[in-house]
Amino acid sequence: MASDSFSSLSISSAQIANLESLGYSKMTAIQAQGLPAVLEGKDLIAQAKTGSGKTATFGIGLLEKINPRFFGAQALILCPTRELADQVGKELRKLARCIPNIKVVLLCGGKPFQFQKASLEHGAHIIVGTPGRIQDHLVRETLDLSGLKTLVLDEADRMLDMGFSDVINEIIDQTPKTRQSLLFSATYPDSINKMCDTILNDPITISVESEHNTSVIEQKFFKVSAHERNDSLLALFENYQPETTVVFCHTKKQCDEVARFLDGRGIEALAIHGDLEQRDRDQVLVRFANKSCSVLVATDVAARGLDIKSLSAVINFELPRDPEIYVHRIGRTGRAGEKGIALSIFAHNETIRVEAIEDYQNKTCEIETVDSLNRDAKFSVHPTMATMQIDVGRKNKIRPGDILGALTKDAGLTGSQIGKIDIFDIASYIAIDRKALRKVLDYFANGKIKGKLVRARMIS
Ligand code: AMP
Repeated sequence: MASDSFSSLSISSAQIANLESLGYSKMTAIQAQGLPAVLEGKDLIAQAKTGSGKTATFGIGLLEKINPRFFGAQALILCPTRELADQVGKELRKLARCIPNIKVVLLCGGKPFQFQKASLEHGAHIIVGTPGRIQDHLVRETLDLSGLKTLVLDEADRMLDMGFSDVINEIIDQTPKTRQSLLFSATYPDSINKMCDTILNDPITISVESEHNTSVIEQKFFKVSAHERNDSLLALFENYQPETTVVFCHTKKQCDEVARFLDGRGIEALAIHGDLEQRDRDQVLVRFANKSCSVLVATDVAARGLDIKSLSAVINFELPRDPEIYVHRIGRTGRAGEKGIALSIFAHNETIRVEAIEDYQNKTCEIETVDSLNRDAKFSVHPTMATMQIDVGRKNKIRPGDILGALTKDAGLTGSQIGKIDIFDIASYIAIDRKALRKVLDYFANGKIKGKLVRARMIS
């Protein structure tokens, strides 16, 4: 039986101290099973989901092999989406704190190529990105993978679903055969097995049960007739009155329609799906995370990698065919010991999906009708915060403190009127109490941040 203490591993004492400072007191199941093999240099296939601690499993492993004095790409992590890449990048930066001057560069689509090229020219040890953009860099010879030591495929099943198989193979062709390869996937369809055969060398296979405890999630199923779906959704909001909600839909069109419907009924909602421009996706995610929007209507792909700590409710506007997707969706509520609620609407001809969920969870689903709900027709959702965008960001060396300083000292806001501040490369987003919006807009008519005149606008 593997010990679950990080000090049982052959990793640097600086990393052990770093993990302690991050509050990682013991290894998660996937770390205890995977890290010894990863540190021995073995290839790995791991069945694990987000939340299992998988990022640290490959992160701690790849960092041990990095040579900080060689400023070339030594580790590459391929992710299906920008959001997941962001999340992985953040976690790696935390893990890399114990080694001075390690550079982690994100290469994802929807971001200016030139900035990425410039970052690479300054030297990067670890690359995190989406396959399409990584391939662009290889084609234009702005990225060299000949010194690569570790290759990670994160959420490999999702990348194949998104049609990245050929691109991934072309990228791998440019890496040395001596590399260590680590593949993480939530599911194991045949296509993944085939991929493993060609990419991995004598791999170790591990699988861990999801650590998420679905027993703290209250699950309810509402049988409705197909034409009542919209009104039933409204009934769920009016009865449960959740503070933050993600409504899952199947299609992009449905997301837009449902968001519009809710908006029209006094429930401010935003849709997020793959058809949005990257900048618009960023904005939606920022607004949801900074509490200036509290209802998101999303497809599964768009919601993946969303870093939301405490959702009060997940609503399935339609049930997925695959019960595993259902469990993954509802796992976004009830985190960190909080109680969550998962509400699902289904029509008679979708009963088979409810049965599949019952089989998968090995328990009976509670089925109700919306008639039994207590509706408060006056219920509405209008967040108290709004999001302001300003046209300066990381490239202008702006930090949250600069913005906070300008708004509290010069514009006269109180600290409590300012929420989360998100700094992007060429723009920043600030959550502001709606009551203070006028003051902020007036200030930015002439106001400066770090001596620079700044343009500001409210996003709606
Ligand atoms: P992941 O599955 O990699 O997305 O990780 C889920 C979360 O668990 C992240 O927020 C990590 O910071 C955190 N985490 C990873 N390993 C540990 C650990 N050993 N102890 C406590 N938290 C951890």
